Parts: sequence; C-alpha cells; structure tokens
Amino acid sequence: MNSDDSIFKKDLDLAGFACRFLKDQGAILEPGNPVINALLPKELSQALEVEEYISMARDTKEVKKYDGTALYPLEFQTPLLDKIVSMAGSAPPLLQADLKFTYIKTQGFDSLINDQFEFHRSKINIIGTGEIRTRYVLLTSRFLAQSDEQKEGLLDFSFNLDTGALAPGMHKMLVNAEKEYQTKTIQKYTEKEIIQIHEWVSRYGPDAVEEGISKFVQSMNRRFNRDSLSLDQYYQALEKEMKESLSRTGISDKLKQEREAKIALIPDELGSKKKDLLNKYSIKVSFSPVAVLAVTTPCVKVFISLISGRKKKKISMIYNPVTKSMDPMVCQSCGTSTYSLGVCRKMHLNCISCLGQSCSLCQ
Ligand SMILES: [Zn+2]
Ligand SMILES: [Zn+2]
Repeated sequence: MNSDDSIFKKDLDLAGFACRFLKDQGAILEPGNPVINALLPKELSQALEVEEYISMARDTKEVKKYDGTALYPLEFQTPLLDKIVSMAGSAPPLLQADLKFTYIKTQGFDSLINDQFEFHRSKINIIGTGEIRTRYVLLTSRFLAQSDEQKEGLLDFSFNLDTGALAPGMHKMLVNAEKEYQTKTIQKYTEKEIIQIHEWVSRYGPDAVEEGISKFVQSMNRRFNRDSLSLDQYYQALEKEMKESLSRTGISDKLKQEREAKIALIPDELGSKKKDLLNKYSIKVSFSPVAVLAVTTPCVKVFISLISGRKKKKISMIYNPVTKSMDPMVCQSCGTSTYSLGVCRKMHLNCISCLGQSCSLCQ
C-alpha cells in the first residue's frame, strides 16, 4: 500500500534533465552507465564552453578507467550543469510529444487499484474500462531555497491536465515510451491552465523540495537552536546579575526601581530577539520553470462504483501507461492528489485529512 508521502518522491534526475536538454538542442547521445557520451553541435559546444565530443557522469569518482575524452560531472554547482540550467531557464522550451503504445493493459485493474489505494469505510467495484487520450504536463523547475544561506536545484513535476492529479514518476519512465515530437501544432496552454499549473507547483513543491534539501533544513534548524540557546543563556545570566545587584547594600530606592523595571522587560526583549532569529533561519522557497514537455497519450479510464454503506457513487480513475500504475485520485475538498480516500455523508470524495475535518463541499 502506498502512503501519501510516496506521492512526493520526486525524480531529482540531473543526468536525465541534462540529456533531455542536450538532445533537444541537437546533440547525439550515447547513454551508458556510469558514462554518457555526447556529440554536440558546434554552436552548442561553444555556448556551453566544452569540446564537441564530451563524456558526462553522475558521479565522476565512480569512473575508474577512462579513455581520455573530457569527462564532466553532472552535479549541482558544476560549470556544465550550471550553464545548461541557465540556458534552459532563459526561455523554457515548450516541447510536445505524442506517445504511442503497442500494448496497453486491459485487465487486472482491481488488484492494481487495491495495491495502490486505501478506501476508508468504502469499497470499489469496477464496472467498465475504455481507452481514451489524456494530457500530461511534465515540468522541470528550478527551486531556490533562501534562508541565512541559500540552496538551489531542480525538481521534476508531472500533472494530468485533465484530472488535476499529480502523476509521480513520469520523467523517469518516459524514456521507455515511443514518442513522436510535434513541431508544427504545439498546443498552447490556456491562462486558466497556466494558473492551475502554478497552483500545483506551489502545492506540491515545498514538500518535494524539503526532501531534497533535508541536510540544509537540518543545518538551519541546528543553527537556530544553537543561537536560540545562547540567547537564553545570555538573558538568564543578565537577569541573574541584575537581581543580585538589587540585594547589594547602599543601593537607592530609585535605582532599585529602575533595575526592577529593566528586569521585567527581559522576557519581551528575549521574545523579540527570538523572533528575529526565526526570521533569519526560516526557509523561503521559490520556483521558476526551466523546461516544459506537454505529453498526450492513450490511457485507460476505469469506471468504478464506489460503495459506502447503502450509498453508491460513480467515479473514474486513470491508468497511466507511462508509469504503468493508476494516477492518484484528487480530493474534492482540497484538490490534493492522494491514494487514501473516503467519502463524506453526501458521497464527496475526500482525502484523509479532509475526512478528519469536514468536507468543504458540504459547508
Ligand atoms: Zn483533501
Ligand atoms: Zn461533502
């Protein structure tokens, strides 16, 4: 059974991203493991400031024997990847691919659905299937996490434009699909769809990023805790010293009152210093698109009767032939993609957290 967390397992595949970019720019690739060879068009090699024939590897330390071609690492903060990211980001290329499959699953959806989904106090009954075409958008985004320091990287997202579901894992699996790239009739997105895509990135991005920058988050937390502790110690010592000075002989009433007033202010001062500290180490994340691939593909629509007590509701799910799994369902209350669902009294589909609160459609 999938937990909701698994939805956020993003494909932070730098080599895949770099290869897609180079290929789109006319490079001929010879993929291998761990070394990927590439023959670049002259202008591209000049723009990237590398030789025309290069080799790349995810981890250059892994490459032991080597024949002498220039070897470039595909890691963050290496010159080649930085140039690729900035070239890709200057005008996010919109590519469109139509997928073809010689075989698409036609049965066995019930066990697939039961493996992937969890239905709370309800069960499903498959009433039919049909092949339809659907649209996905595969988006590569650059993220910038800013705190006392900053960190950047790339994230891949894939969404089903027709159902609004996050379809994790498509970038990696797309390699195996037969694709026909469209050059003439590239679909434009409507303004509504662009706003929608933006909302999806804001919805799923922060969690996906957090996973990729866990060390950065830990380091900011550690520094916050360290600085916060030394603030506590400083103000405790200050308070102690001021209180001790009150008991000294020969101190005037006026001075005593002044010091007591100062002591009373300490908690507020400490509070505001802590607030500054929290600001300093809190992490703000922003996203900008680097590449967009619009995919149209055949898929299987699975028609289902969802049964809860004596009530029934017709729903449908999408079998995604690229990931060879069912896309998650979308909560009708909050719009989040989920594999864990239930229904409210009026049979609206709700994710578990919405089910625990109250269905927003019923209010
Ligand atoms: Zn929800
Ligand atoms: Zn409801």
